[in-house]
Amino acid sequence: MPFIDRQHRVRVLLAEHQLDAAIFTARENLRYFCGFTGSDGVLVVTGSGRARFLTDSRYTTQAGAEVCADQVVEYRVQSEGVVAALLELGGQRIGFESGLAYGKVDDLRTRGDASWAWIPLKDAFDGLRAVKDSVEIEAMVAAASLHAVALAEIETLIRPGSIERDVALALEFALKRLGAEEKSFDFIVASGPRGALPHGVAGDRRLAVGELVTIDFGARVAGYHADETVTVALGTPPDELRRVYDTVLAAHDLAIAAIRPGVALAEIDRAARDFIAAAGYGAYFGHGLGHGIGLDVHEAPTVSARSKAIAAPGMVVTVEPGIYLPGLGGVRIEDMVLVTEDGARVLTCIDKQYRDLLAG
Ligand code: ZN
Ligand code: ZN
Repeated sequence: MPFIDRQHRVRVLLAEHQLDAAIFTARENLRYFCGFTGSDGVLVVTGSGRARFLTDSRYTTQAGAEVCADQVVEYRVQSEGVVAALLELGGQRIGFESGLAYGKVDDLRTRGDASWAWIPLKDAFDGLRAVKDSVEIEAMVAAASLHAVALAEIETLIRPGSIERDVALALEFALKRLGAEEKSFDFIVASGPRGALPHGVAGDRRLAVGELVTIDFGARVAGYHADETVTVALGTPPDELRRVYDTVLAAHDLAIAAIRPGVALAEIDRAARDFIAAAGYGAYFGHGLGHGIGLDVHEAPTVSARSKAIAAPGMVVTVEPGIYLPGLGGVRIEDMVLVTEDGARVLTCIDKQYRDLLAG
């Protein structure tokens, strides 16, 4: 059971920030720090070594079976339950995660003792999930392995005349039938000029000959997300887009080659960004290179020019450079990469070499 160790890491952080207690309410954090898979509850971890899980009557039985904590306590009103626990366990300076809504914090502030300090710990808490253990990595590998099978199954639908939305639906259906518990997000199927929209969710447009199609999709397995993007051709696209594909792929390969423990994630972003800029497309790569992924599709650490994180073994991040040319189209190529002891391992398995689906 990894939860004792994870709660211990919370306590180390509490000591560093001179806090008495931390409260977690986000589903992903509850799952990570105490094993609870329901949708509503609060985990209170104190610096003095206590862990208490609070939930409502719908989840008491489930929590009793799943949760790693000293005690499971039922509440009727969540904020009342949290304040009562903090009074009993002794919390004066309380840290909370970045996802906690302002209204909830305000409610706790009002109900709690006026002398208590409520301290948001965004970066520090978010970083706690950045390094994955082998069970987490296995779940993501399992999710990513479904991508290749599902895409191959529906490939004959990625043809001129098909509607973007139908491609997205078929892909989702295939992933779920193969064992995905959920899709990771609303899939992007952006064809032709729509490829210039980095987040063009699948629409009513029909695919056509001579276009590129960008498909950004992912499966979730055992709570863990996978995320992958392929851009494929239907016949021969405009010359410039063909060159753009090679540029994006080379930037993607350069970034992955730069990943090893100790390298700043900002440097990895720069490896791809400098290459794209040198090719003349710097202005058309507007987003960060990638993001951490795990219980959330987007989680710490981010891989961008502003990232302060350093690559460490066990981190899983995406590498997804893209070039988007308004009116013409775009290319994005995305893989998930695990930082290993001496380098990097790509967890997604679809080949990213340029492919014309109408050829041969
Ligand atoms: Zn993606
Ligand atoms: Zn992504």
